[in-house]
Amino acid sequence: MRALIVEDEPAISELLAINLRHNGFEPVICMDGEQAQLELDAVLPDIILLDWMLPGASGIALSRKWRSAERTRQVPILLLTARSEEQDKIQGLDAGADDYITKPFSTQELMARIRAILRRRAPEQSTGAVRVGDLELDGSTYRVTWQGAELKIGPTEFKLLRYLMSHPERVHSRAQLLDKVWGDHVFIEERTVTSISSACAKLCWARVA
Ligand code: CA
Repeated sequence: MRALIVEDEPAISELLAINLRHNGFEPVICMDGEQAQLELDAVLPDIILLDWMLPGASGIALSRKWRSAERTRQVPILLLTARSEEQDKIQGLDAGADDYITKPFSTQELMARIRAILRRRAPEQSTGAVRVGDLELDGSTYRVTWQGAELKIGPTEFKLLRYLMSHPERVHSRAQLLDKVWGDHVFIEERTVTSISSACAKLCWARVA
């Protein structure tokens, strides 16, 4: 899962990147809209964390632009800002942001908001619970447990695990997994699919060919 951070304060973008990486994301940092546009032209991320006050185009202007462009229309946007007036929130959401978080925010709240956005946008919209042997996955809380103990798992592994657990004891092709799990706007190397898939498949007796 790739997260594009558009934030001109290095202390904040670094902190965001550390937390995202810790939660299984691959963060990419851009200082302004121009740099972010180049990044978006090259690779589409799974989510954009967008600061409001930026040098050059503001987060609001960028949100509007990316929401109206064909290529970036579907990419979820979480707006980050120090502004907390009701009018500002309305303006942010009206500009196309999926959600809004006010600085300073706790990293737990930030991650919860990101999970909520991705849940709403996931290609496979299952929110129910799935169980395979001792492994249990709850789609509504994004939790996975093994023999009752919670497993630390990133969003990509979660989606993959959910797919494999819903179709256990089968052989899946990498192309099929890419399509069903990663969705169509993600660039990913086949060997990444292989390594993550093999680890998840072992847990639910499926096989990746
Ligand atoms: Ca800023």
